[in-house]
Amino acid sequence: MIVCKFGGSSVADDSQIRKVKAILDADSRRTIAVVSAPGRRSSEDDKITDLLYECNRLAQQNRSCRPVFEKIADRYLGIAKALKLDAGRLVPALDEIRQGIDAGRGTDYAASRGEYLSGLIIAAYLGWEFVDPADYIVINSDGTVNPITYERLSARFSEGGHYVLPGFYGSTPEGVIKTFSRGGSDISGAIASRAAKAELYENWTDVSGIYAADPRIVKNAKVISELTYRQVRELSDVGASVFHEEAIAPVIEAMIPINIRNTNDPDAPGTMISAESSNHGLIGISGKGGFSRIKIRKLMMFKRPGMRHALLTIFHLYGVRPSFSLFGIDSIVWYFESSQASDSVLSAMCARLKKDFSLDDISVERDVAVLGLVGTMDESTAFIDAAAALRDAGIPVKSLNYGASDVTTLIGVDDKDCRRAVEVIYNALF
Ligand code: ASP
Repeated sequence: MIVCKFGGSSVADDSQIRKVKAILDADSRRTIAVVSAPGRRSSEDDKITDLLYECNRLAQQNRSCRPVFEKIADRYLGIAKALKLDAGRLVPALDEIRQGIDAGRGTDYAASRGEYLSGLIIAAYLGWEFVDPADYIVINSDGTVNPITYERLSARFSEGGHYVLPGFYGSTPEGVIKTFSRGGSDISGAIASRAAKAELYENWTDVSGIYAADPRIVKNAKVISELTYRQVRELSDVGASVFHEEAIAPVIEAMIPINIRNTNDPDAPGTMISAESSNHGLIGISGKGGFSRIKIRKLMMFKRPGMRHALLTIFHLYGVRPSFSLFGIDSIVWYFESSQASDSVLSAMCARLKKDFSLDDISVERDVAVLGLVGTMDESTAFIDAAAALRDAGIPVKSLNYGASDVTTLIGVDDKDCRRAVEVIYNALF
């Protein structure tokens, strides 16, 4: 059997939901649908999940969430009517949700209701059974999936029916509603695939697969036909946003292939993700801005055992969790996401590090981007060509990290150069 996950744009209105039905009807192996909350219908439109977060914010300030909630209710009632369902049956659920938000049931409860309502409507439209993830998916306090989830969900799916499972949420071991991080319905789809021992996990979205470069930057970017689990993780880590990077974990152990497909172009083959790929060489280039670089210099630094560890301990105290690093004989550079620390937190942290470790120098550079050149990196010289292309385009390279991963070369550039650097590298190498 095949698990199909439909993202926000695939369930944004009644005409999209009709496409979902046509896709499910086209293959009898498609028996489990995992659905997101309605996304944007146009660039000016709202995502239901954003509106729900807004309702919760208003409720927390003791303000009425009614005007925002009306928009949400209208959207769902409109979809139900257009699908010729009995929209009145949604009213009690909508009232209960608004009261729950007003009563302070919290952020995760509010956010999860988008998928919940989406699931109710789509299950009714398809005539499939609604499975509430709150009763099956157990999310630990650190965000990991509790193994009991698979036992419970497998048992539920073993009856061999047709099921609609809302994405994005489950509950804590204590039974309180909890969501994954944004875009987390991909994770729910992966969990359902593993629990159902699916032969394939189809992830239906609004693009025809994962592109070798962001098509908003590179107009003629190609769709990657095949890539490995590791490659997709590394691409998403540096900004490719088609598939949630945490959604690989549940399927990788069960070796379930993932097929990224386009709801608006169901005949396109999309991108296949699995353990092995016949695609050798370069796969894609992606870039992500919003990083800062902290550079620490101290003569004979590496003669002091444990110093790196001690430095990182202080970073953690200030909420800074570096993502990439480079080591020199007397210096270290760490990249971290700028949102982790304000200027004042950073200057306090730097002052403390400088004093505690008698550093020769410590400096922070903001507005840095990291590009990931992903493919089979073993013995590849593509990074040399990429650096040469950037030099020819007059884009300064701040760092080059080759060899740490056999899948990715990381290249540091200024934020302002990130988009152009992706374009330059794509045009030179792909
Ligand atoms: N609706 C949630 C979000 O907007 C989860 C998802 O769509 O995957 O982040």
